[in-house]
Amino acid sequence: MEPLKYLAGYPDHLQAQVRALIAQDGLRPMLAKKYAEPHAVRSDGQLYDYVQGLKERYLRRSVPLGKVVYDSTLQVMKHALGTHTAISRAHGGRLKASREIRIATVFRDAPADFLRMIAVHELAHLKEADHNKAFYQLCTHMEPDYHQLEFDLRLYLTQVEMEPRHPS
Ligand SMILES: [Zn+2]
Repeated sequence: MEPLKYLAGYPDHLQAQVRALIAQDGLRPMLAKKYAEPHAVRSDGQLYDYVQGLKERYLRRSVPLGKVVYDSTLQVMKHALGTHTAISRAHGGRLKASREIRIATVFRDAPADFLRMIAVHELAHLKEADHNKAFYQLCTHMEPDYHQLEFDLRLYLTQVEMEPRHPS
């Protein structure tokens, strides 16, 4: 059976439920229904304003933002979410010196809730480098549903990867 790489580290029974949903072609409709709202953050400039808006609301006192860009070379698991079990120390989504935030391009077409979740994740890294307890407290301060959203994002990425690529 092919591993569910975005759900590695989650309990077997949970992965089994997801597999069952996939087998019934239920994952996509479930996500489409739950996360129906798109966003209009298309360009890097819009992305900067969006992330800056969240920062002003929740993390006003932390260091100023440098660049904020969509990055098509980022692999979400490797750079953005780390793994469920291990703490990722060298965090590619955030370059410490310049306080750059890079967000994987897959979020440009993702539902609005997932863009907000990843923006919150990256903003939390302005204050906490590691995925530790303080880090997740910051995340849930900015987005009370953070944990649910991160889990559903993993489902979303699983779904996106199963879809055939349509050349535009
Ligand atoms: Zn992270």
